Amino acid sequence: MVMFTLRKLLYVYCCVSVFIILWLLNYHVTDKGEDDVLEERLDVLQKRLDDKHKLLEESKQKVKDYEEKLHKCRIFKPFQKSFNTSLPIIYLITPTYDRIEQKAELTRLYYTLLHVPNIHWILVEDSDRKTEKVQHFLANCKIHYTHLNVATPQQVKLKSSDPNWLKPRGVLQRNAGLTWIRASLDPHKDKGVVYFADDDNTYSVELFEEMRLTKKVSVWPVAMVGGLRFESPICDKNSVTGWGVYYRPTRPFPIDMAGFAVNLQLFFDHPNAWFSNNVQRGYQESTILKLLDITMADLEPRADKCTKILVWHTRTEKYNPKNEAKLKQKSGKGTDPNVEI
Ligand code: UDP
Ligand code: MN
Repeated sequence: MVMFTLRKLLYVYCCVSVFIILWLLNYHVTDKGEDDVLEERLDVLQKRLDDKHKLLEESKQKVKDYEEKLHKCRIFKPFQKSFNTSLPIIYLITPTYDRIEQKAELTRLYYTLLHVPNIHWILVEDSDRKTEKVQHFLANCKIHYTHLNVATPQQVKLKSSDPNWLKPRGVLQRNAGLTWIRASLDPHKDKGVVYFADDDNTYSVELFEEMRLTKKVSVWPVAMVGGLRFESPICDKNSVTGWGVYYRPTRPFPIDMAGFAVNLQLFFDHPNAWFSNNVQRGYQESTILKLLDITMADLEPRADKCTKILVWHTRTEKYNPKNEAKLKQKSGKGTDPNVEI
């Protein structure tokens, strides 16, 4: 009887032990499985979080880019591209050529022109092809412009060692501007004035309003030219009676290129009016005005009867990067040639 009970107890004990072992085993297995599931879910959530974070960063960058664009628009907002049709357009022909100072000159001139309404800038490069430098420069130009190019032939091209006055400058480039004007504008509809603005002069914004309503040819003084403080037409009331110049006063029109503007219509009425490389030094202005059939009586004095200086014949000193070679020798390389100046 006792044996039987002991055996029974042992049996029950074994069964309970086996059951407990199985239960523990099962618990452990189940427990590990849940951890894996949880870890997997955590991974998924982490990935989603990473994705959302990435999206957020991208959106932040987009907002930043947009703000930058908006800022740029605000800077240039006053200078809109559209023309005011009731105001004559000023066609500004500017010859320009590749040299160290070029971008500085163009930037300075451009910032002046940004203040002038109804202006169309015809920028003509003295070059066989349009240079990257000027193309880059014009990519951000917020005024109307036309980009042209024509190279000055070698035999009349000024060398960098030549004095400025030795050969004519900007002749074919001004003519290219005139060709564009004659081919692209409508003589019956387009109203305007043509001004030959070299890239290195300094122009007051007021000058452009003085020339805007030119009937034939308007004239004014130019400072720092012809070896005088300024050269000027001499005026009596509203007509030009003579010239306050020292250099070649007997020229038909002893006036600098920066000293006059021409009504657009005249270039249609006189299709043979061109600048020329075959004229005496100082005769470019006289040549074109003669070909336009202009007489002294046609000249319209501006700038308070030619008493105010609104344009300066400034010239930029040639920059000499004399230390580039020395720097190269000393440190193995000069300044970065990929940086456009
Ligand atoms: N110019 C040009 N090619 C040259 C030299 C000058 O196109 O080889 C341009 C120059 O950029 C300027 C105009 O012609 O717009 C008159 O030249 P510059 O200012 O040297 O003449 P100056 O000051 O003696 O009148
Ligand atoms: Mn000049």
